[in-house]
Amino acid sequence: MGLLELQSGPVYGPVSSRRLGRSLGLNILPFDRKLCSFNCVYCQYGWTGTHTLDGRAHRAELPTPAEIAAALRESLSRLASDGAPPAYITFSGNGEPTLHPEFDKIVDLVLKLRDELAPEARVAILSNSTTVGDEAVRRSLDRLDVRIMKLDCVEPDVFTSYNRPCCGVDVGNIIEGLKKLRTFTLQVLFTEMNSGEKSVAGWLEVVKYLKPEEVQVYTLDRSAPLVDLKPVSKKRLEEITLRVEAEAGVRATAY
Ligand code: SF4
Repeated sequence: MGLLELQSGPVYGPVSSRRLGRSLGLNILPFDRKLCSFNCVYCQYGWTGTHTLDGRAHRAELPTPAEIAAALRESLSRLASDGAPPAYITFSGNGEPTLHPEFDKIVDLVLKLRDELAPEARVAILSNSTTVGDEAVRRSLDRLDVRIMKLDCVEPDVFTSYNRPCCGVDVGNIIEGLKKLRTFTLQVLFTEMNSGEKSVAGWLEVVKYLKPEEVQVYTLDRSAPLVDLKPVSKKRLEEITLRVEAEAGVRATAY
């Protein structure tokens, strides 16, 4: 499978998600490029167009809370009248959602619309964790029903070459921010670059420290921007999940 096309608006789907079932996607990022604090070598949307930790500097390129709410209202109303509400409304899309400078206000609007138009749906986020050290962002994340937070590796050299963080991102801050978050699921994408014994052992120590509710591990299932990147075997993924359960006492699932 090739790379995914960028999302062209603030709402997409519902899509059938391996983790969440029928999920309505929310893209609160630009529609013509990816805006992210990482430039992961495996990103399904290709290389990052705007590589930044400063969403404020790109405010004019982002949809407004009112535009996002209008699109979500229209989509949830249509799904309700079809008798097919989504199981999840999920912040995801063209980059890192918490970089939107009005993330807090958007969370407010989304929760209100969920309560009004799809009260059974849960509101989730897929985040790369780079802003979780910020208390205001953590407060917003804690208001959601489900937080799926990325931590692929912790060794600085692997972190730098694998996730390619922009200036200002620090893996130590990520770990301490995650420690202060309410419950969360840790999500990891393993490939040949971060699945060596040294890298997994260091990451596992952090899993023991963080004690997430669950760990979800994956490997590549489509093309990657780094063309020679190799997935890991199903057997290696299963070995890692068994170690997470045995050594950290945390439920782990390989997808
Ligand atoms: S954090 Fe997510 S959106 Fe950003 S580069 Fe990595 S995989 Fe892509």
